[in-house]
Amino acid sequence: MGDSTYWRERAACLRADDPDMFFPVGNDGPSLVEVDEAKAVCSWCPVLEQCLDLALQLGPVQGVWGGTTESERRAIRRRDARPTTKKAVTLQNSDGTRRSARV
Ligand code: SF4
Repeated sequence: MGDSTYWRERAACLRADDPDMFFPVGNDGPSLVEVDEAKAVCSWCPVLEQCLDLALQLGPVQGVWGGTTESERRAIRRRDARPTTKKAVTLQNSDGTRRSARV
C-alpha cells in the first residue's frame, strides 16, 4: 500500500466520538461549536499536514480538513496563488560571468 493511503489510517478523526462534527451544517451556533471540536481533534492528529495538503489539492471540499474550514482553505489558496514580488534574474558580473539573483 502506498504512502498516500497509509497516512489516512492514522487519522485522529477515525477515532472521534462524533465524526459528523467534521462536516457541520451551517455557519453559526452549534456549527461553530462543532468546528471548534473538530479542530481540537485535528490539533493532535499525527497526519494533519498530509490532510491539509490533500484538501488544498482537491480544491473546494466541505468540512474541517487539516484543522481548517473550507473558507480558511480558500484563503490559503488565494494567498498561495498570489504572485511573488521577487523574480529570479540572471545578472552579468563585470568579468563577464553570470550569477542568479532574486529581485
Ligand atoms: S487533520 Fe485531517 S485526518 Fe487529522 S483529524 Fe483532522 S480531518 Fe482528520
